[in-house]
Amino acid sequence: MTEHSADQRRLREILTTKSCVMLDFDGPVCAVFTGLAASTVAARALDAIRHAGYADLAQRCETNDPLELLSLLAADGPELVEDVEAVVRSSEIEAVSSAAPTPGAVELIERCHASGRSLCIVSNNADSAVSAYLAEHGLTDPVDAIAARRPDDATYLKPDTRLLQRAAEATGTSPAACTLVGDSPSDVKAAHAFGAPAIGYANKPDKFERLTNAGADTVTEQLKPITSTL
Ligand SMILES: [Mg+2]
Repeated sequence: MTEHSADQRRLREILTTKSCVMLDFDGPVCAVFTGLAASTVAARALDAIRHAGYADLAQRCETNDPLELLSLLAADGPELVEDVEAVVRSSEIEAVSSAAPTPGAVELIERCHASGRSLCIVSNNADSAVSAYLAEHGLTDPVDAIAARRPDDATYLKPDTRLLQRAAEATGTSPAACTLVGDSPSDVKAAHAFGAPAIGYANKPDKFERLTNAGADTVTEQLKPITSTL
């Protein structure tokens, strides 16, 4: 048996018992920072920290990843989270207007919806950015719930389970009836902590190993095998 057919079998085992598919946004739905680089957004956020008079903190939190920056800030400078989150949020809204759609994402979302399952977007990106992208791409209707970052969520991003809990509550689903598709080890950790299997989406060569090592229940390099199993 080839590796590919083994993956299909594993996907079938996971998906046949699930009534709620949670989909990470950046990666499985689109590449958020295509036209506006994540490093640019992080630089804007670090500028905001400096301008607020916290140059030392900006130095300690130096990173190219705006979401990592929010998490660092939640621990190290909670009084700045609200303002910096707003900077990241407006940049993400700007970014999604030029985000590259992930091949097969529309088909996956529509097939999932047509299968009678709930489809939720579970994202560390701003909820308003996710909504804007879905509206622009005609995907508002087939998405049953968006559980994405709100201004006061910076402390509870994945791998925390808060966003998954919110999605499950919104769709009236128990963890055992959910699975999460994501492209980061933090997605795998969040799914497992929540009690749901994780389907790794390895859209870049190095991710297959990283997702496997993180304990993903199966890993696929394309969305199509997921869609054809739904
Ligand atoms: Mg992702």
